[in-house]
Amino acid sequence: TATRELLLSRIRDVPDHPKPGVVFKDITPLLADPEAFAALTGALAELCTRFGATKIVGLEARGFILAAPVAVSAGVGFIPVRKAGKLPGATLRQAYELEYGTAEIEVHAEDLAPGDRVLVIDDVLATGGTAEASLDLIRRAGAEVAGVVVLMELGFLGGRARLEPALRGAPLEAI
Ligand code: 5GP
Repeated sequence: TATRELLLSRIRDVPDHPKPGVVFKDITPLLADPEAFAALTGALAELCTRFGATKIVGLEARGFILAAPVAVSAGVGFIPVRKAGKLPGATLRQAYELEYGTAEIEVHAEDLAPGDRVLVIDDVLATGGTAEASLDLIRRAGAEVAGVVVLMELGFLGGRARLEPALRGAPLEAI
């Protein structure tokens, strides 16, 4: 679609970032273009409504930037999932495997509860590890997963396949 073309045209490839051999997808040109940012926010809010989500989880850090305006637009609460050690209150913590080593993310325990239907938003799905761990957090809090939506999926990293079991039938969409 025209919207999709516009959005993808505003994502810049940065070779050798953050390390040699990696081509980083930089979304800052999209954020700096108000027409593109509004189009993205609108498309994400539509999916939020279609999936019947009652809360939106944004994944640190670029997921925050995308998820926050969508939450306001869709009229649902915004919940930050952060790297471990940043949130001040009582948290649920989830570890996950990286290419080398492990990482941990957290959510405030009081932010998610049974009866919530939660949409996860991030900018890029790479290996799927971060998104998978966020689904574990949502379920451990007793909440339901409404879906996962990303701006862009790096297909060659196999994130969709890794995420598939954790989705349990919930949708995974890239814009
Ligand atoms: P994953 O856990 O799927 O391997 O990594 C996804 C996380 O790393 C996301 O939070 C995403 O923001 C970030 N990430 C990985 N690769 C890229 C990239 O090329 N561009 C951007 N913008 N983020 C990336």
